[in-house]
Amino acid sequence: MNRPAAIPAQTCRDAPILKQRGQREVFCGLTGIIWLHRKMQDAFFLVVGSRTCAHLLQSAAGVMIFAEPRFGTAILEEGDLAGMADAHDELDREVARLLARRPDIRQLFLVGSCPSEVIKLDLARAAERLTVEHAPHVRVLNYSGSGIETTFTQGEDACLASMVPVLPATQARELLLVGALPDVVEDQAVKLLSEMGIGPIRVLPAPRSAEMPGMGENVVYALLQPFLGDTAAALDRRGARMISAPFPFGEEGTTAWLRAIADEFGVDDETFDRVTAAPRARARKAVAAAAETLAGKSIFFFPDSQLEIPFARFLIRECGMEAIEIGAPYIHKGLVGPDMDLIPAGPTISEGQDVDLQLDRCRAARPDLTVCGLGLANPLEAEGLTTKWAIELVFTPVHFYEQAGDLAALFARPLRRRALLKLEAAE
Ligand code: SF4
Repeated sequence: MNRPAAIPAQTCRDAPILKQRGQREVFCGLTGIIWLHRKMQDAFFLVVGSRTCAHLLQSAAGVMIFAEPRFGTAILEEGDLAGMADAHDELDREVARLLARRPDIRQLFLVGSCPSEVIKLDLARAAERLTVEHAPHVRVLNYSGSGIETTFTQGEDACLASMVPVLPATQARELLLVGALPDVVEDQAVKLLSEMGIGPIRVLPAPRSAEMPGMGENVVYALLQPFLGDTAAALDRRGARMISAPFPFGEEGTTAWLRAIADEFGVDDETFDRVTAAPRARARKAVAAAAETLAGKSIFFFPDSQLEIPFARFLIRECGMEAIEIGAPYIHKGLVGPDMDLIPAGPTISEGQDVDLQLDRCRAARPDLTVCGLGLANPLEAEGLTTKWAIELVFTPVHFYEQAGDLAALFARPLRRRALLKLEAAE
């Protein structure tokens, strides 16, 4: 049986969405540079920002900033406000200095940020001007990682979306996998699909600019992350077509994601089962081990990464958890609709955030596990709630069969730790 076993009659797709538009507590889109710079080996991310942006990047990236210098910050001082022409000249000089020093750079991203002096700079125009100046060796693109416009996973979306308009045209029928995953996880997906006879398979982002995928109406694409809404819209505008599916988390999600692609490429059931049977069995076994801790426990998601809905689907259906609230920064049913179809109606589905009201709901519900950002976790722990940092779920490899057990274990760990602490306190 390759398809999800039971689709609930009443699902979360039909449930009313509680829309919140208040204060929110999340990282900005600059954070995405930390994982993007590892994927694109000839790219450089130049943040046009303030000292705060430089500090964020340095503390988030830690020592890697010295080991793999593929990003940096061009700091605009107050004085640069004196004249925008001066600011543009300064940026041009910074870029020229950087490119002269680093001939390995083939793609340069100018990444916008929050300070008002940066917002006034037209980085799109700067990118066009600099592309002409440094062609054909370097292409310069721009996107915003500003905390005003983006939450932390949206930085990747904005980056990938900026690349789509300049992808070369192709008439070839190709499968494009979209999203930046650790190489070892991406390789697992490509291997499974290739063993079914599916190909050619391309990925966005490609490791080097020379390997960028082609784009056209015969390209079909599958998203690897649920936060890539702008990228999907940009791909659609170039004529590509999305293969809609639940996201590849857990045994069920991975199987449904693979099955949707296999259907698109006419793979028969026998081939599909032959390729997936062994890793599916391994995934089920690994999930079952962690699910012993999770079964029957309640969970509350604060909005953070847009991964909340697929994760909730996995925890409810494969680990036996009960969701009280599933909060997401944005709910794009065109992307997460297939996951919502698999979640029985019941939990509150909330979009956006009004953090104080949501904290009140969380305190009233007293969930066994709360998934939230770093800023909320400590106070909630102090109140006796068990928490999981949402950002850890983005930085850990959790896609596909071989990581399904790790994904469940990430949620089980804080519950086990809390149980141990209680035990020690009782002794
Ligand atoms: S982009 Fe904005 S939110 Fe992010 S570090 Fe810079 S100033 Fe802070």
